[in-house]
Amino acid sequence: MNSQIPLSFPVFNGNENQYTQQAISSGHIATNGSFISRFEEKLSARLKTHECVALNSGTSALHISLVLLGISSGDEVICQSFTFCASANPVVYLGATPIFVDSEKDTWNICPELLEDAILSRLAKGKKPKAIVVVHLFGMPARMNEILEVAEKYGIPVLEDAAEAIGSEFEGRPCGTLGQIGVFSFNGNKIMTSGAGGALISTDSSIIQRAKLLSTQAREDFPFYHHLEIGYNYKMNNISAAIGLAQLEQLDMFIKNRRAVNQRYRELLEDFPGIEFQPEGKQSYSNYWLTSILIDQEITGFSNDQLKFALSKQGIESRYLWKPLHTQPVFNLTPFYGGSISEGLFETGLCLPSSAGLTLEDQEKVVNVLQEELSKTHK
Ligand SMILES: *Cc1c(COP(=O)(O)O)cnc(C)c1O
Repeated sequence: MNSQIPLSFPVFNGNENQYTQQAISSGHIATNGSFISRFEEKLSARLKTHECVALNSGTSALHISLVLLGISSGDEVICQSFTFCASANPVVYLGATPIFVDSEKDTWNICPELLEDAILSRLAKGKKPKAIVVVHLFGMPARMNEILEVAEKYGIPVLEDAAEAIGSEFEGRPCGTLGQIGVFSFNGNKIMTSGAGGALISTDSSIIQRAKLLSTQAREDFPFYHHLEIGYNYKMNNISAAIGLAQLEQLDMFIKNRRAVNQRYRELLEDFPGIEFQPEGKQSYSNYWLTSILIDQEITGFSNDQLKFALSKQGIESRYLWKPLHTQPVFNLTPFYGGSISEGLFETGLCLPSSAGLTLEDQEKVVNVLQEELSKTHK
């Protein structure tokens, strides 16, 4: 059943129709066409210091990033455990092993102290991790100063999975621009979309050139098809880029709206003890892709399941937070460093409807259901 109030729906109020029509009329619908370069230029201009390459998903952008960082079979890559599987799957595509690290309570992202413990432990086993995958969950920046300090101390590159965090900032700098390579996703449910799509960003032009080559089957610039290495079919197509460009033009408005949604939830649920929001530190500016709450069952008398069920009965979609990857059956033999922070977040958390186009009326409906439930305390 389709929810009357979905978790996150795209808004197409800009030039999406016009640009896709133009792309189709131009006859260029595959991986050449002017919208791809226009999209790349506009994204690079927004990031100021970084160049980018538009790809067909965030997952493929992560995969190519790991190739460019030299990850290969038998290597180890440290990865935040509390995230979507796509942060770690590309490590496995390359025959390498993810080493999962728990989150910390403030940002819900990778804990810098546990990160260092993990590095020391792997070094003691005779293996130096080749990269660190940091995620900015739900748009909230990770503790980048401490993370980058640890990474530098041991000389390990940081790959920023900013799939959920385009437009978020840490100390005034855009998420995705803080590590060696950054990655965005433009999947349909993200804050801006190109249908499906992603981008790889870097200050290093040689990395961008290599990403362009590898994402187009490593086809060399010859009059005939000539290949020196194995590539991938990962480039963004022109129709996606047309949608992406139109969405990028509206990104600031999407962020403004999502932040307003978050602010309203905070105000409307303020009087309910036992409900906590993902905190935004002084150094951080979140795009608030999804507003997420933690429900303390001892105080509220309710579990996240119960609230999720109450919402769904009224046609309102909510979602559990990411189930930590170290608890996923598919990763059950993978090393993990940490305790139970991310598991605790998963067990008590809920993502609320957060669309940029969520109306005031619909948001009040969501809050009313929550308030009504929370008022029937059955402790
Ligand atoms: C969405 C997402 C991805 C993958 O992006 P796709 O474009 O769906 O391939 C990777 N990491 C995180 C944290 C995500 O949320």
